[in-house]
Amino acid sequence: MQAEIDQETVLALIGAARQARARAYAPYSRFAVGAALLAEDGTVIEGCNVENASSPLGLCAERAAVAAAVVRGYRRFRAIAVVGGERAISPCGGCRQVLREFGDFWVVGGNADGTALERWRLSELLPAAFGPGLGE
Ligand SMILES: [Zn+2]
Repeated sequence: MQAEIDQETVLALIGAARQARARAYAPYSRFAVGAALLAEDGTVIEGCNVENASSPLGLCAERAAVAAAVVRGYRRFRAIAVVGGERAISPCGGCRQVLREFGDFWVVGGNADGTALERWRLSELLPAAFGPGLGE
């Protein structure tokens, strides 16, 4: 079990996710989402959703953040924040699986203005997950 994350860290991650959300490319759904991954060394890597005219090719903010982190050499994370909408959101099922590939860490869901926050462990959002993260 990884250590708790303090409220200051949570708020900083939410702020980064909100900044990423402002750069989302979501002309079809108009549902902009931002994400911010906290690497073990404290580095924050952002992602936003990137939609496409061929809708199945769209990319969620969380997976965009994971790809950006991996290409920079990060594979161990303490938390991810994801923000969008009027109420706190949580990662979709596909993103839960992709995140779980890299361990069991904190997920903070927020709304677009960062005022409604919820917090889970990834293992709560995706119990009995398939993959290498099991048994940690
Ligand atoms: Zn997703």
